[in-house]
Amino acid sequence: LYVDQPLGAGQAVAVGPEQATYLFAVMRLAVGAGVLLFNGRDGEWLARVVDAGKRRGALVCEAQTRALQLPPDLWLLFSPVRKERTNFIVEKAVELGVSRLMPVTTRFTQSERWRQDKQLAHAIEAAEQCGATSVPQVGDVQPLERALAGWPEGRVLIWADEALAGSGTGAAALTGVDAGTQGAILIGPEGGFSDDEKALLRGLPFVRPISLGPRILRAETAAVAALVLWQMAAGD
Ligand code: SAM
Repeated sequence: LYVDQPLGAGQAVAVGPEQATYLFAVMRLAVGAGVLLFNGRDGEWLARVVDAGKRRGALVCEAQTRALQLPPDLWLLFSPVRKERTNFIVEKAVELGVSRLMPVTTRFTQSERWRQDKQLAHAIEAAEQCGATSVPQVGDVQPLERALAGWPEGRVLIWADEALAGSGTGAAALTGVDAGTQGAILIGPEGGFSDDEKALLRGLPFVRPISLGPRILRAETAAVAALVLWQMAAGD
């Protein structure tokens, strides 16, 4: 269970109304029951229920069960698509391991709807479900050009370029990538990238275009494929 509170031996953790309903009504946990907690900073902790009210309660941390495990230092830049598919991208990115989600708008972006708070909650849920001890940063939507203009030195950007579909797989673009590489993956919208965007991307020294195989994939499939290729190259 994710809590936005410090965790440590003997640390008391307050339980708010929503989590109280889940823990004490849905899961039927009573005083003395154990709950695994994480906050994205202090690893995973076993906590005991000490108060199980209807609308609130309290836990006390006993012992750390796992140290903090950070995902690869990998950002995912993608263009928001339809709601369920955007949710899918967020969920799979958390499961496969990214440190930051960066929605970007491009010329052919169909949906600029991105609720940062809702998507953070969605990322937390995905982290809880897959046993992660951290939650990626969830950025606000911004134009692709702006994200590229402020690009940090030393971070490689793997650009999923649909024009390369059919020219092998991505192995070559990932040469030299290992567990310590600072990276990012860029996935376009359903309409692909415009000519201007392609020209911009081709001219940037930190960009490496990648093919994701012989067929044109949907944006959410492309995100999963690229993340898996990165994971295989980086080794975690
Ligand atoms: N409308 C575009 C076209 O027909 O060429 C296809 C866009 S595709 C649905 C969405 C995004 O997924 C692309 O912008 C690209 O980033 C990525 N993508 C899909 N298939 C790919 C492939 N085989 N290789 C590299 N990137 C791919």
